[in-house]
Amino acid sequence: MSSQSEIVLTKAPVPLVFGFQWSVGEMMEKFIKTLADKKILGAKCPQCGYIYVPPRWRCGKCYAKLGEKNLTELSGKGTLLSYTTAYVELDGVGNFKELDKPKAIGAIKLESADSTIFMLLGEVKPGDLKEGMKVEVAWREEPKGELADIKYFRPVKG
Ligand SMILES: [Zn+2]
Repeated sequence: MSSQSEIVLTKAPVPLVFGFQWSVGEMMEKFIKTLADKKILGAKCPQCGYIYVPPRWRCGKCYAKLGEKNLTELSGKGTLLSYTTAYVELDGVGNFKELDKPKAIGAIKLESADSTIFMLLGEVKPGDLKEGMKVEVAWREEPKGELADIKYFRPVKG
């Protein structure tokens, strides 16, 4: 007597969910905590003077080491270099989700910073966005030292 075994192949999706903790590093942690005081920190390279926001440990231009002593407060105002409009976003498990309302996202160069940040834009119609316009940070009512303390950037009025 022989027994027959059968291999069953399936294409049914198997959901995999991993919980993990990830350290953002001391410089980024300081950047995030300082948002509670409505302050945006950058780091100035002691060797070449390039100012990074958010701050980082190593200069990408000259490879000098940066530390807490190189942190510098930035104004929260800057220039919109470019922008785009998003109609979908990721749902956190790898799928696209259509947005109820499109979001404008801008590449912003903060005053005295050399690097660029990508932030949500608010209090402006997408048709009114212009490259080169001055923008400023709009803070959450009660900042808690989280990235979400920055609601978005909006055009500077006046
Ligand atoms: Zn440098």
